[in-house]
Amino acid sequence: MTGSTASPDQPDRAGLERLRTEAETRHAGFVESGMALDLTRGKPATEQLDLADALDGILDGDYRAEDGTDSRNYGGLLGLPECRRLGGRILGTDPERVLAGGNSSLTLMYQLVETAHLFGLGDARPWRDEAAEAGRPVTFLCPVPGYDRHFTVCESLGIAMRTVPVTDEGPDMDAVEAAVAEDPLIRGIWCVPKYSNPTGCVYSEEVVQRMAALPGRAGPGFLVLWDNAYAVHDLRDDPPVLADLMGAADALGHADSIAMFASTSKITHAGSGVGFMASGAETLAAFQQRLGTLMIGPDKVNQLRHARLLPDDEHLRAHMRRQADLVRPRFDAVEEALQQGLGNTGLASWTRPDGGYFVSVDTRPGLATEVVRLASEAGVKLTPAGATFPLGEDPEDRNIRLAPTFPPLEDVRRAMEVFINAVQLATARRLLQEESP
Ligand code: PLP
Repeated sequence: MTGSTASPDQPDRAGLERLRTEAETRHAGFVESGMALDLTRGKPATEQLDLADALDGILDGDYRAEDGTDSRNYGGLLGLPECRRLGGRILGTDPERVLAGGNSSLTLMYQLVETAHLFGLGDARPWRDEAAEAGRPVTFLCPVPGYDRHFTVCESLGIAMRTVPVTDEGPDMDAVEAAVAEDPLIRGIWCVPKYSNPTGCVYSEEVVQRMAALPGRAGPGFLVLWDNAYAVHDLRDDPPVLADLMGAADALGHADSIAMFASTSKITHAGSGVGFMASGAETLAAFQQRLGTLMIGPDKVNQLRHARLLPDDEHLRAHMRRQADLVRPRFDAVEEALQQGLGNTGLASWTRPDGGYFVSVDTRPGLATEVVRLASEAGVKLTPAGATFPLGEDPEDRNIRLAPTFPPLEDVRRAMEVFINAVQLATARRLLQEESP
């Protein structure tokens, strides 16, 4: 379940003074102890990587794919059929629509956006021509808080960014549709539809339907960038089911405006997985043509290794259950610590994701930077405040992303103690300052 916990209860002045004194004492103790912990990037822990070590040697000299392709040789820009099926299984879409690429879905996202910007996809005009004609850059809608590297893709290509709020159901679709109606230069939207980075929300059926209809409102050349990085990363039984975007888009004739992405980065080995993209036939063909300028073919040996390790739904599900058994205790530790330290205090609200890699915490306005600074002083590195907003600017300075998967469980617990104390200290100091005559 994704949800926030906040309480309006605010301690009185005496309570705040006590909280500040106690938090200052604990903070000084943490500083003295010389900790060096890290809750920043969402990386799999070593034991998670170990689960996929059978990749090594799995081919046992048999390099032939099911269609007879020698995976060691050049060619095959769309990828091996059995690996495209794996991508289709993860993305919940037809393998014919899927391209299996190299080790990073982020690279595919960048390359697709760059292709649309510089060259145009299919019949659509290049976005840079539209921008030149209008005398201002094209714009992407960025649901916030969101994934910093999506924003960096836009920034690096000179694409402007306009934020829209994320709710527990996904992006606020009233705001999305209003923006598209108002500005003809909006050419795309970033989405992380399941266990969103960082809030962990799963887009509702209604949001998915409205997203499928969006290209009809936005006009030719518009792209819904559907980054389903956490599609199979459920932590609990009976996980939420994400509605079928491609099916809905197909019914409306919008498949070419949908670009779905996923990878095995957080399924097998993060640095040597397989990235996937799925779209309509025309967009896929245009992208394939562009890729042909960049390479002769992807690493099909690695694709074959992945297809052999995860040959069907059953293997994929069993593998992800083993992953969840390692990740779940860390998320439980974060929730337990937040609830114990900040529950019913009104000092913060946070999400309780059922999957993915992150927990999103909102402090009181204007405190995130100070909390991150205090935690760092006490030896705990946190993702910089603002990182979940375009250009690193959180207008309310309140969102902090916690990534608990990588450190050992005991380190997660210790880091959370420091984090909670930093929230208490920053908030007590600020409230007392505001209250003083
Ligand atoms: N998309 C999201 C939402 C992510 O959180 C991440 C990694 O943290 C990625 C993409 C990176 O994917 P890949 O390793 O396939 O490039």
